[in-house]
Amino acid sequence: VERTFMMIKPDGVSRGKIGEIIQRIEHKGYAIKAMKMVQPTPELLAKHYAEHVGKSFYPSLVQYMTLGPVIAMIGEGTNIVSGWRTIMGTTNPTLAAPGTIRGDLGREWEGEAVMNIVHGSDSVEAAEYEIKLWFA
Ligand code: ATP
Ligand code: MG
Repeated sequence: VERTFMMIKPDGVSRGKIGEIIQRIEHKGYAIKAMKMVQPTPELLAKHYAEHVGKSFYPSLVQYMTLGPVIAMIGEGTNIVSGWRTIMGTTNPTLAAPGTIRGDLGREWEGEAVMNIVHGSDSVEAAEYEIKLWFA
């Protein structure tokens, strides 16, 4: 069975959306195999977002992702990597489709970073890397 790394970002936690997001995961029939609340550090984020280190928005991305604790989860289910990204919606919440988490719950932010509530690995390889990183 496929696994992915799922995260409720600091804005999802601070705005009280943990329950709604987990309900959507469970309604889809995905199994949550592990879950913990973590305060991300810049060091951890540099490994998680290695592809973005050095980009213009990277400092604001770190600022956003260290605003408070996140919920880190290992999810399991058939085609969960792409399925979870479909449920999340596209990166920019102002463009995400209604019915997706980002489309329904996302908000714009005045700063440079896009605050978009949730994360999901974008490939099976990325999922295994991120699971090892967050659940070492
Ligand atoms: P995530 O990896 O967080 O699940 P994603 O895969 O939809 O999101 P990525 O391209 O991996 O999007 O970007 C990671 C995060 O960096 C985004 O979720 C967003 O918070 C921020 N981000 C990405 N692109 C931009 C941008 N052009 N301007 C500002 N912030 C951005
Ligand atoms: Mg990504």
